[in-house]
Amino acid sequence: MADSKKPRLESNPEVKYTKIWIDNEWRDSVSKKTFPTINPCTGDKICDVAEGDKADVDIAVESAKKAFALGSEWRKMDASARGHLMNKLADLIERDSEYLAQLETLDNGKPLKVARSADLPLTIKCYRYYAGYTDKIHGKTIPVDGDYFTYTRHEPVGIVGAIIPWNFPLLMQAWKLGPALCAGNVVVLKPAEQTPLTALYMGALMKEAGFPPGVVNIIPGYGPTAGAAISEHMDVDKVAFTGSTEIGHIVMQAAGKSNLKNVTLELGGKSPNIVFADADLDNAVEMSHFALFFNQGQCCCAGSRCFVEDSVYDEFVRKSVERSKQRTVGDPLDPDVEQGPQIDKEQFDKIMTLIEAGKSEGAKLECGGKQVGEKGFFVEPTVFSDVQDEMRIAKEEIFGPVQQIMRFKTIDEVISRANATSYGLAAAVYTRDINKAIAVAHSVRAGTVWVNCYDVFAAQAPFGGYKQSGSGRELGEYGLEQYSEIKTVTIKIDEKNS
Ligand code: NAP
Ligand code: MG
Repeated sequence: MADSKKPRLESNPEVKYTKIWIDNEWRDSVSKKTFPTINPCTGDKICDVAEGDKADVDIAVESAKKAFALGSEWRKMDASARGHLMNKLADLIERDSEYLAQLETLDNGKPLKVARSADLPLTIKCYRYYAGYTDKIHGKTIPVDGDYFTYTRHEPVGIVGAIIPWNFPLLMQAWKLGPALCAGNVVVLKPAEQTPLTALYMGALMKEAGFPPGVVNIIPGYGPTAGAAISEHMDVDKVAFTGSTEIGHIVMQAAGKSNLKNVTLELGGKSPNIVFADADLDNAVEMSHFALFFNQGQCCCAGSRCFVEDSVYDEFVRKSVERSKQRTVGDPLDPDVEQGPQIDKEQFDKIMTLIEAGKSEGAKLECGGKQVGEKGFFVEPTVFSDVQDEMRIAKEEIFGPVQQIMRFKTIDEVISRANATSYGLAAAVYTRDINKAIAVAHSVRAGTVWVNCYDVFAAQAPFGGYKQSGSGRELGEYGLEQYSEIKTVTIKIDEKNS
């Protein structure tokens, strides 16, 4: 634990909004129920938040419908004006970015330094990228046979239900709202039960930016009630979900059982991180450490299966263990701290169970493995070596600071082992040989491959999963496509006038 006597740099930010956001107004839930949001550093309650469920989702959908009605302010707005609103929103996030970073840290537990340097800038860039795209969404003219003039229009899908997780609350919100608003949709958003606070603050910023009522509605609440009400809703046209593969199955089934709404999913992973003997070893050690431990290990794309070539395996393990032992864990407001608490007791318990499984299945615990302190949900940076592919820690998503290091001998072997998973979100390869890098990049069934780096995200570059890591892509031009319907218009050309 970092020195707890060190003075905290900031005090806890004031929580301004705790109600449901519908029609640009705050309201209690229909049931009047609330739920607590917890500070993961202490396990103590921060505040109570209105608990939305089906009744509130129904009201939000009605509000969204009004906002999306033909002739509404939103539907009539010039595409460039929509971009202007989105840029204004980005300006307001920028204005309040220190407050938002602190609020994110309070609710989520991530180091303030990370919220400031990663979550906030990436959120702002995402909105700005899509703000610039609103009036660049073009259809085509198509030379069909016969005397016809045919063109396509990219129209908004309609009412988008967005269900997001707790690991990057603001950023996941931007990944959904950015392309959805860019393409002219309206949104009903449910933040994760663990982290509703920054999502709610965004409601106020949207109103201040000038978004008309009903364009974005925010319903804090639980997944099986509020989340399910969105994914089962007959008037929701699309659902965009990020979270576990388990719930991804449920969301897709709900779409199938209700109105066949369009579904995009961004789910879990067990991403291979492949280190060849010819790599810059210090870079590979540092990047592999970052790939796994960033955000307390709570990343869908964590490089959680680290394959290392036989001849450098021992040295790699020794250096990785050294690096993990140096990792500073503690108060996320302390600028020297690299790792805060896990999000909640449930995740903490799951991580501890999997660490026990690693030990009992015969992996070698090199360091860590225990809770840090007694309060909150802090876990020691943990490294396992001698991990075998069939062990639970090599197959299941741990979503915590636990690194698995495996040994390989040949490139064909490692490609086939890397692909032996039901996931396919990301992968990384470390080598100085461009041919090896390309061979791996083109053979691994994953939506993103990083070479000699990890977790390089950009609003311009698509992200998403093969296999059970998801369907569809987020970000970039490809991400935008998921928020439009294509309409074909064919006009008979009157021959008399031609
Ligand atoms: P989760 O249950 O999949 O939560 C993601 C979102 O889905 C939350 O907003 C959640 O609501 C909602 N949800 C839950 N049940 C639902 C349902 N029946 N219908 C519609 N929405 C529903 O994930 P979690 O329980 O927080 O974490 C469990 C595991 O998921 C983690 O250990 C990790 O493996 C994975 N995970 C992946 C990501 C990712 O980025 N891909 C992010 C977080 C977690 P509430 O949380 O409010 O109940
Ligand atoms: Mg919380």
